[in-house]
Amino acid sequence: MASDTIEFYNNAVVTCNNCGNTFVTGSTKKEIKVDICSKCHPFYTGSGKGIVEKKGQVAKFNAKYNTNNNTAGN
Ligand SMILES: [Zn+2]
Repeated sequence: MASDTIEFYNNAVVTCNNCGNTFVTGSTKKEIKVDICSKCHPFYTGSGKGIVEKKGQVAKFNAKYNTNNNTAGN
């Protein structure tokens, strides 16, 4: 059965919204935006506590549950 929604596999530029890193990969899309990439994820960088904190989510959690436990993710 013929389809009129053929998508072509080509090079896509991936842009990281977090650190601005860009790289090229294969995709049916031309442009991909990601929130985190291998340049800034703690798993690859080895920095931080192994958790991804955006917009003060950890501070908000600690305030809500009145805890100073910052060892999450270790
Ligand atoms: Zn990144």
